[in-house]
Amino acid sequence: MKIILFLLFILLTTFSFCQIDSNSFYHSPLDIPLKLSANFGELRPNHFHMGIDYRTNGVEGIKIFAIEDGYIARVKVSPFGYGKVVYINHPNGITSVYAHCSSFSGKLDSIVKQKQIEQQNFEIEFLPDSNLIPVKRGEAFALSGNTGNSSGPHLHFELRDTKTEIALNPLINGFEVFDTLAPTIKGLKIYALTKESYRWPNKSKLINVTRTKNKFQIPNSLVTIPADYCSQGGIGFAIEANDHINGYTHEFSYFGSKLIVNNDTVFIQENDEITFDASKAINTHEDIEENKKSKRKFQKSFKTKQNPLEIYTLDKNGVVKIKPYDSLNVKYQVYDTHNNTSEIDFKLKVQNGLINQKLFNITNQLSPASEYKFEDTSSFIRVKEGCVYEPIPLNFQNKTGISIGNASNPIHTPIEIKLRLKNAELPVQKYIIKNTSLNKALDTKYNEGWLTAESKNLGTFVIDFDTIAPSLFPLNFNLNDTLLKKSTITWKVNEEKTSLKDYDLFIDNQWQLLEYESKGSYLFYRRQSNFVGKHLLKIIVVDSCGNSRIWEKEITFE
Ligand SMILES: [Zn+2]
Repeated sequence: MKIILFLLFILLTTFSFCQIDSNSFYHSPLDIPLKLSANFGELRPNHFHMGIDYRTNGVEGIKIFAIEDGYIARVKVSPFGYGKVVYINHPNGITSVYAHCSSFSGKLDSIVKQKQIEQQNFEIEFLPDSNLIPVKRGEAFALSGNTGNSSGPHLHFELRDTKTEIALNPLINGFEVFDTLAPTIKGLKIYALTKESYRWPNKSKLINVTRTKNKFQIPNSLVTIPADYCSQGGIGFAIEANDHINGYTHEFSYFGSKLIVNNDTVFIQENDEITFDASKAINTHEDIEENKKSKRKFQKSFKTKQNPLEIYTLDKNGVVKIKPYDSLNVKYQVYDTHNNTSEIDFKLKVQNGLINQKLFNITNQLSPASEYKFEDTSSFIRVKEGCVYEPIPLNFQNKTGISIGNASNPIHTPIEIKLRLKNAELPVQKYIIKNTSLNKALDTKYNEGWLTAESKNLGTFVIDFDTIAPSLFPLNFNLNDTLLKKSTITWKVNEEKTSLKDYDLFIDNQWQLLEYESKGSYLFYRRQSNFVGKHLLKIIVVDSCGNSRIWEKEITFE
């Protein structure tokens, strides 16, 4: 019977794909059965997961296929982010993205290598014309890998709207999975809010949810909150829940949630598409403080005016108005892409009592609603409107360098900092602005007596300098080895204070491709097997302050 139901399900889902979009029948992007390790919309530090991750059996080198006819429209090679990544534009207006590749194949590989030699740089990015590298549906153009910001071999796969570059949820755009299991609800949070729907500091309540069979419950199906939660008129809700997919033991992020209060739907979240510009606003969608404290991930069902995310389908902010002695019926529904839904019901009672007449008001604050700028003869700082997600204490000082806010507070857009460089004893290039709260050097420029930088964090900024070159030493051979059989030769590179800006390998004074892997900070050279004999290897590594180190050695390859 189960098998019959399963077959019926396949038939029905297949039928519905036909009805929705005949283009849904994409070719598989991998040469092995597709197994998910992460889905779309998963909560990550500072961003949503903008695609899906496919397992590659724990190894690199699995063939990657074009899901449909099209042309390679963008290629990037970077030691960071997506590593080696390919973007293919398809005639149906969709772009497919294949990230963390280990290598490219065929024509794509020769074109990339040619660009790298032309530019004498491992790191390249280019946008080929539509007729340069056409691909056929099912054509292999790369091998899977673990390059860039990836913590194990896998394929990160994305679908985007070619025109807008909005990331689309693959699980509802042709890459459906068999799923009959509903999400698990684990916790609820209730927050007292200000008039602008910012959270009132330290006024929130966490309620654990338990499960008996398929029913989710909280003790007595009742939550009571103090009267002072009503002080500015509104409260907000958040939910902790995860989805399950048949055949997987690990959990996935849910697709949608719906908050219903007294039979009125007050908030809906659906992860159907996410824009890259808005993705960092996960720092206001998720309760980041709770995550830092307990590692639990609560997603809010209310939003501030400045929240740019488009995953909210109603034209409402989710704030629920209450007053002392109110009693509300609250219902939460959480669902996956197949509408498998879990539900929790409870009564919310507001205690009787006095409300707090002292209004929430931080003086000297950084606010999302306005720009903050400070300028004098030795320092300058600008925090744009919409940079912080909620009002926070300004914490400004400019006695030692310049300080603003708190480094642990996430921000949406970079802040601008300028510090005057007086009595420079070193070449100006050696000076940097450093965020001492995070011990992090910023990418710094010098302009007419000023050091300038942008920072993705708040904190304390001072002038520092770097005169020490990166270190470099052999990793898979010994310093006294003069004879090498290895096909890949690896070095460890270390830059203490700033970052590695350039790295070049010359063999017999000819530039050769030297790859850089930022995760473990390795440089490596892949030798063609027919490249033998005695050769002079010379590597030059340079940091962002122009400090360089040269490593030179005569090696005989066998
Ligand atoms: Zn991924």
